[in-house]
Amino acid sequence: IQTILLKNRPVGRPVVSDFEFVKDESDISINDGEILLETTYVSVDPYLRGRMSDAKSYVPPFELNKPIHSGVIAKVIASKNESFAEGDFVSGMLDWKTQQVSTGEGLLKVDKSKAPLSAYLGILGMTGLTAYLGLTEIGKPKAGETLVVSGAAGAVGSVVGQIGKILGLNVIGIAGTDEKVEMLKSKFGFDAGINYNTTENMTAAIAEAAPNGVDVYFDNVGGPISDAVLFNINKFARIIICGAISVYNNTELPKSISVQPFLVKNSALMQGFIVSNYADKFPEAMKELSTWLAQDKLTYTETIVEGFENIPTAFIDLFDGKNKGKMIVKI
Ligand code: NDP
Repeated sequence: IQTILLKNRPVGRPVVSDFEFVKDESDISINDGEILLETTYVSVDPYLRGRMSDAKSYVPPFELNKPIHSGVIAKVIASKNESFAEGDFVSGMLDWKTQQVSTGEGLLKVDKSKAPLSAYLGILGMTGLTAYLGLTEIGKPKAGETLVVSGAAGAVGSVVGQIGKILGLNVIGIAGTDEKVEMLKSKFGFDAGINYNTTENMTAAIAEAAPNGVDVYFDNVGGPISDAVLFNINKFARIIICGAISVYNNTELPKSISVQPFLVKNSALMQGFIVSNYADKFPEAMKELSTWLAQDKLTYTETIVEGFENIPTAFIDLFDGKNKGKMIVKI
C-alpha cells in the first residue's frame, strides 16, 4: 500500500519534495462494519493548496506527516458492512492511499452505468455543484445579461459558462492559451474568449467583448484579471468570488487594489462562495446537472494523468494551467 503524506508546508509554489511517499507491505484486514477500498481516481484541486498552509480557513489545515485527502472514487474490494458489496464504487473524501479501510461514513455509492466514474469527481461532483450553485445562488443571472468567467477552461469555469448559455446569457471566458480560448467557443459554446497571457490591456479587451458591460462575474482567479473585469461592471452587477488561484501561492499580503469605487458607483454585490454552505441545495442542483448532461446540453472535458506517484505533480500542474477541464489522476 502506498500513501502520500504532507512533508512540508509549501512556501510559495508547491514542489514535489513537499510530499512524501511511504510504502507499507503489511496486509490490511477489516473488522465488522468496515469496508476495504481500492483507489480508482483521485481529484486534485486548487483549494488543497490552502489546506497545506497552517493559516486559519474554512477547513482545517492538513497535518504534517499525515496523508493528504481529497475527492476520491474507490472500489469496494472487501466488505463487512451490509450497506456496501464487493464491486461497488464509492465517492468521498479519502486519503491519498492506494488502499484504505473505511466505515463507509460520508461515502456515496456511484453508478458507473449512468456516467463514467471520473465524472463523479467533476461535473457530477463538487465541480458541477460549485458551478451551478455559485452562479445561480449568488449570480442570480437573468436571460440576456452578460456573464464573464475567469479560469474558464478549467473544471468549474467550463461548467459555469455552459450553464450561462443554457440560462440565455452572453458568455465571455478568460483562459491562459489560444487553444483553451478556442475550446471555450467550439466545445463549450461560449460567445467569446480572451487569452490573458497574450492580451496587453485586459480592461479594454473585456470592454470590447462585453459592449453592454458585465452583469455577472464568476471569479476563479482573483488578481489583476479580476480587477480588469471589475472595471467593466454594470449597475447591480453580481460578483461571485469562488476562488483566487492567481494568489494562492503568494507569500506576501497583496497591495490594496482600488475596485471599491466601482462597486459603490454600480451598487454591485461581491460575495465569497463556498460550496459546502449550500449542502441543502445539492439534491436539486445534482438533478438539474444530470438532466442537462443526459440531454447533451452540458458536456465536460478532463485531463487524466495516470499513476498514483503522479498525484503531487498533477496537483502542482494546476498552477501552470496544464489541465483542460477537470484534472484527475487515474490509479
Ligand atoms: P481548474 O480546473 O480551473 O484549474 C486551475 C486553472 O487555473 C488552471 O487550469 C489555469 O488555467 C488557471 N490558473 C492557474 N494559475 C493561474 C493564474 N496565476 N492566473 C490565472 N489563472 C490561473 O480548477 P477548479 O475548476 O477545480 O477550480 C477553479 C477555482 O474554483 C479555484 O480557484 C478553486 O479554488 C475554486 N473552487 C472553489 C470552490 C468553492 O467552494 N469555493 C469549490 C471548487 C473550486 P489557465 O491556463 O487558464 O491559466
